[in-house]
Amino acid sequence: MKGECLCGRVKFKIEGNIPNLYQCHCSLCRKVTGSSANAATFVTQKDFLWLSGQDKISSFQKPTGYRSDFCSLCGSPVPNQLRGTELVWVPAGLLEEPFEAAVAVNVHLHMASAAS
Ligand SMILES: [Zn+2]
Ligand SMILES: [Zn+2]
Repeated sequence: MKGECLCGRVKFKIEGNIPNLYQCHCSLCRKVTGSSANAATFVTQKDFLWLSGQDKISSFQKPTGYRSDFCSLCGSPVPNQLRGTELVWVPAGLLEEPFEAAVAVNVHLHMASAAS
């Protein structure tokens, strides 16, 4: 499975199947995507490979620790490794290939603060 940002400069690849997708509805994820929810997945670092554009990635972090990495050319959110873990957060909207039916969104987070 390959993915890339809007301008195509930042490219990455995931080995194997996407384990699952979740959608976070918190106010931070709404702002970071400009959308009603943030669909994403986590993969282990060994299954994740950068193909290009890592030097174009900028990072923003709130004092609370919420972090967003994004392409400095087009502004797309891009994958980031969760500090201190083996997990890489991957925004689902960047993935280039269709998912198998088994990986429909199966977890919804922060529904209490979801957009009405
Ligand atoms: Zn880009
Ligand atoms: Zn969130």
